[in-house]
Amino acid sequence: MIKPLSPAPSPDVKPVVPNANPYLLLTPGPLSTTATVKEAMLRDWCTWDNEYNRLVQSIRERLVRLAAPSNPAEYTAVLMQGSGTFSVEAALGTALPRNGGKLAVITNGAYGDRMAQIAAVHGISTAVIPFGEVASVQPDTLEQALAEDPMITHVAVVHCETTTGVLNPLADIAKVVRRHGKTFIVDAMSSFGGIPLDMAELGIDFLVSSSNKCIQGVPGFGFVLARGEAIGACRGNARSLSLDLYDQWETMERMQGKWRFTSPTHVVRAFDQALVELEQEGGIEARHNRYADNQRALVEGMEAAGFAPLLPRELQSPIITSFRCPEDGGFTFQSFYETLKQEGFVIYPGKISSADTFRIGSIGEIYPGDVHRLLKAVAHYKALSARQ
Ligand SMILES: *Cc1c(COP(=O)(O)O)cnc(C)c1O
Repeated sequence: MIKPLSPAPSPDVKPVVPNANPYLLLTPGPLSTTATVKEAMLRDWCTWDNEYNRLVQSIRERLVRLAAPSNPAEYTAVLMQGSGTFSVEAALGTALPRNGGKLAVITNGAYGDRMAQIAAVHGISTAVIPFGEVASVQPDTLEQALAEDPMITHVAVVHCETTTGVLNPLADIAKVVRRHGKTFIVDAMSSFGGIPLDMAELGIDFLVSSSNKCIQGVPGFGFVLARGEAIGACRGNARSLSLDLYDQWETMERMQGKWRFTSPTHVVRAFDQALVELEQEGGIEARHNRYADNQRALVEGMEAAGFAPLLPRELQSPIITSFRCPEDGGFTFQSFYETLKQEGFVIYPGKISSADTFRIGSIGEIYPGDVHRLLKAVAHYKALSARQ
């Protein structure tokens, strides 16, 4: 027997990770993750090793079962290096044919706008269907737009617009897209893993998310879930080599889990652990309930402290909540942010032009108890700023 040069780590010695987190991330991603997800990154992994490729295949299979539970056999998953936007760009740039395609982009926030911007960079013929910054998507308006422009071949929408936290009515939008026979692309970046959905039931052809959102992994790659037939027809479409989703998929299929270029091995390991923990929590339904509990506790407490949510309750997602900055009492986002950070919480600035807002996320390794501690820190800030 050949002796290993250095002893392999014993499986029952848990590495010690110092808890170096000075704050919880109440943001739209990256999110606070468990110590066990971070621990999965504490060794080096070979990309060429079969064991690693098997892990990638297992991740792909698990993603498909989460995304299309009613008919996983017709769906496939492609992992792609980079942040979530890279995968959105790969999906749009590969799904649209080089000639004769036209993309309708439904927009009600920065991420919808970004899809239109990507399409423009790729020279894709595009129609933007705008719904403003603080309104939900109206399926009737989409219906009319599709009826009036028969050149449209693909429709893209953001599920949860993280810009404000609005949750778009995916099932109603899907019905219209299906009725018109268009290819349907969904940016479910901030909702996948945190809100149950079924691509097969909804008729979604391409759905994009990333490692550092509701699956609760760390940042480093995105993934596209696709109807097998739809991605199989995309050969030669891509306007980019590294973001060629078809080529990435074809390589992963043919080589059984191999990425084309260097893959973020540590991040992939951490993602595997995050998927295990999602299952242990009880799956997407259970995680959705926890996020919804967090969000409810947040809004109740913030309203009691005098902060008004930007959106009416019926448009609000359980993912992230925008609040109006109070106009009285010497409130500034910067001082609020700094006080909360000192007490162990990081929040996010607002991102819309029509109102002064800030955002607080309810996703990641966050529980209602954390939200209650946050609310104490908010009360502390109010007391401090009232004294000034
Ligand atoms: C986070 C997010 C993205 C991707 O952002 P990256 O910074 O590229 O990871 C895209 N769309 C939505 C809706 C998001 O929330």
